[in-house]
Amino acid sequence: VISLEDAQHYVRQWLAPLAPVDLAPAESLGCVVADDLVALEAVPGFVNSAMDGYALRSSDTRNGPVQLTVVGSILAGEVAATTVDAGEAMRIMTGAPLPDGADCVCMIEEVEVDPGGTQVSIGRVVEPGECIRRPGDDVQVGQLLARRGVELGPAQVGVLSGQGYATVSVHPRPRVGVLSTGHELADASAPMRPGQIRDSNRPMLLALLRRSGFVPVDLGTAEDQPDAITERFGAGLESCDAIISTGGVSVGDADHVKGVIGALCGDRARSMQVAIKPGKPFAFGVAGEASTPLFGLAGNPVSTYVGFEMLVRPALRLLAGQSTLDRLTVNMVLDTPLARQPDGKLHLVFVVARFLEDGRLHAQSSARRGSHLLNAVADANAIALVPEGTGYGVGEIVRALVLDPEPSSATLDAGT
Ligand code: AMP
Ligand code: MG
Repeated sequence: VISLEDAQHYVRQWLAPLAPVDLAPAESLGCVVADDLVALEAVPGFVNSAMDGYALRSSDTRNGPVQLTVVGSILAGEVAATTVDAGEAMRIMTGAPLPDGADCVCMIEEVEVDPGGTQVSIGRVVEPGECIRRPGDDVQVGQLLARRGVELGPAQVGVLSGQGYATVSVHPRPRVGVLSTGHELADASAPMRPGQIRDSNRPMLLALLRRSGFVPVDLGTAEDQPDAITERFGAGLESCDAIISTGGVSVGDADHVKGVIGALCGDRARSMQVAIKPGKPFAFGVAGEASTPLFGLAGNPVSTYVGFEMLVRPALRLLAGQSTLDRLTVNMVLDTPLARQPDGKLHLVFVVARFLEDGRLHAQSSARRGSHLLNAVADANAIALVPEGTGYGVGEIVRALVLDPEPSSATLDAGT
């Protein structure tokens, strides 16, 4: 039996970020920047109006109310045909370049226009530079926009697109194959023979991958036969950056996955008993020249989920070039007890976490707990870390991994 940290360390030692690719900014949301991105263009690129209004010379407004002659009109995207001289104003829309001669804009709400639209009256001093946006206000040429290692967010997608970047160099989203193993698995909508079950793990893992920003690849199912499992891993190795399988890593008579991973990876593989509950049996190896990671998770659905969160997701984030691999872990106040027995393992318990009026995060766990009870944890948005010992009572503080800061509106059948 090895600790969770040792298992994580064993996995991570084999892995490195995927080689960078060039993607359009619009395709790069959530990707990690591989080379510093520097501004190519100033933004704004020219002096322009921040308001719909009238461009004028501020000196004309210095001596009290004034009437100015309107000498034209300019929309965003146009360039003024004439200059604005003393005693003149030009109608201007937000984003239009400031005409030569003008040094400020008075917003439309503050001017009185004569019925013919040829004269405007302004009743206050308009300061030089008022309602004007200057070149480089937001971005200056050469400025660092996104440092290597940064994950691109929506605003950065906007900034880079606004720079005219055709592509940016980023680590690609890992493509991750998922296969489920088990003689008992029936196809999604097929009639079931006695003793068969439907496959929950593969759709769940594909969904977990999508949620975490990876590219899910469905590798289907395999019977509990080494050849069938090897064939599916082989198919995955042709197109994926990582492969996750479920089932067949325990000590049962039909548990062949750990053997297959061992055969595919040689001395770069290990079958482990990790000191966590659920999710104890775990097989891992890296295959081929690309050192493609193969993860063998336990087949009970809650174990699969926990294995994904604790052992797979951080490793996939490493492939994606992320520097923060682990989920945010925070303290929560327990509203339901989290009792457990000492067994040398870290217990990982799904909880519903939410902020209550005291401004603190509160956690509730389901009274029903078991590695086969997936529906009992389906509302959870955090995983409490309950260390060796006898657990916690109501009101005590527990550390928990945040899966999603927004709880679903439903609640668990709070463990009363
Ligand atoms: P195993 O890890 O293969 O020993 O499987 C442990 C338990 O998980 C057994 O009850 C299996 O039937 C169940 N199981 C395995 N694979 C799946 C799956 N893809 N979906 C739902 N349950 C599964
Ligand atoms: Mg099995």
